[in-house]
Amino acid sequence: MSGENETVIIIGAGQAGGQCAASLRRNGWTGRIVLAGSEPHPPYQRPPLSKTYLSGEIGEDRLWLQPPETWDAQNVDLRTGVTATSIDREARTVRFSDGSQERYDHLVLATGSRVRTLPVPGADTEGVRYLRTIADVDHLKADFAPGKRIAIIGGGYIGLEAASVAKKLGAEPVVLEAMDRLLARVAVPELSQFYLDTHRDHGVTVELGAQVAEIATKGGGLLGGQKRVTGVKLADGRTLACDSILVGIGILPNQEIAAEAGIKTGNGIEVDGECRTSDPAIFAIGDCAEQENWLTGTRLRLESVPNALDQAKHAAAAICGSAAPKPEVPWFWSDQYHLKLQTAGLIGTQDTTIQRRPADNTELGHFSLFHLKDGVIIAADCVNDAHGFMAAKMMIAQRASPNPDDLANPEISMKDVMKAALGK
Ligand code: FAD
Ligand code: NAP
Repeated sequence: MSGENETVIIIGAGQAGGQCAASLRRNGWTGRIVLAGSEPHPPYQRPPLSKTYLSGEIGEDRLWLQPPETWDAQNVDLRTGVTATSIDREARTVRFSDGSQERYDHLVLATGSRVRTLPVPGADTEGVRYLRTIADVDHLKADFAPGKRIAIIGGGYIGLEAASVAKKLGAEPVVLEAMDRLLARVAVPELSQFYLDTHRDHGVTVELGAQVAEIATKGGGLLGGQKRVTGVKLADGRTLACDSILVGIGILPNQEIAAEAGIKTGNGIEVDGECRTSDPAIFAIGDCAEQENWLTGTRLRLESVPNALDQAKHAAAAICGSAAPKPEVPWFWSDQYHLKLQTAGLIGTQDTTIQRRPADNTELGHFSLFHLKDGVIIAADCVNDAHGFMAAKMMIAQRASPNPDDLANPEISMKDVMKAALGK
């Protein structure tokens, strides 16, 4: 038992904040837990927002991290629609937007991130939308209707997942990516090319190297009526007509509240291996936290659910004085059309990429790319290949050196490749 007569305040009731509250209770924390979030909802998962919630396959009730009534049952003081506005580290208090103030013994910053906004004229017009929250998607859904032309700015995960949903719903998406390839920040060129071909095969227009100069609009001002979007003007002089615009050009960490309190920040709120900030009573977890990664040895800010959950568990363990969980290999996934991409590890330093494509593969897209550095496997991208992903994740954790010829040979099972590499 730990925490009697002590209070943990968690700022941010998202994926990381919600998990941290649940993990504190699981670790035997008996003290108070205040979980405060700006949004009007209980903690929810964002991944379905650009997938099955956007497509209408699931409703809001399937988004909750846990049934909303169970927060009460776990004695978590969940406060929704409340923003933390400042931290007084000396007095150990947090001030909230509703005028209240609370004292903490331990404070967890799980403030996540916000969308990067499009910095061009016309971008503030109604009809230029973003995709981060339930409210965003509820506004977006009308744009994803048969025959509607949607310009999607940004060919990252948001843009591509949204394009695949748009196509499914009969809309006409055009993806505009500033770089010369899709998923440039997170994927190797071979994978970028695969997704480019896939989207084009599904009838999505993809423009690479597209520099958006302005949002074309009609109405408003002296002309009267509501100003609305009519197209996207590109730097090369072309205007692409559209009915609406979805912007997915990345995120910025919500670290200002920490910086203003004098906590060290860089590309995120800086934390140690236990997720402690430069103030030992204050932790930071999830999208807002920058931490040295145990695999790469470099300081990173990871934007993924597995990372948010992993860091939440580490912070909860440190607060309770419990043993730290085993660190996880970073992993990611993305659903587009009939394809599930699962990525294990982090790309960037590989010197070799090995492709494995099953010989008997009749299902388009069943393949994996394994990335090695000095013979050691450091990452893998697996498309509709769960076995390849699981084996790669275990080998990455062990810093194993699988035989490259075996990896490429679909006649040898991934289980056998892994056993040989791990010496089992
Ligand atoms: P969030 O979930 O963003 O939660 C932070 C919360 O804190 C927010 O609700 C915010 O309003 C609140 N907050 C901020 N400041 C304050 C304050 N001062 N006071 C009170 N509350 C505050 N990851 C994957 O791994 N796989 C996927 O398939 C995937 N799909 C995604 C799809 C979409 C559309 C989006 C937007 C993200 C997706 N991600 C995916 C990323 C993943 O959702 C994030 O990495 C994860 O949500 C991070 O969790 P978090 O708790 O750090 O932040
Ligand atoms: P992202 O992955 O950073 O991709 C944004 C893309 O837009 C980048 O390729 C970026 O190029 C490009 N871009 C930037 N400015 C542009 C401009 N003015 N015009 C055209 N393109 C531009 O971010 P995201 O797709 O917006 O996703 C937001 C967050 O949600 C991320 O944290 C992401 O990880 C998360 N998410 C994850 C998943 C998943 O894991 N499956 C799904 C959806 C969302 P530069 O690199 O040059 O800036």
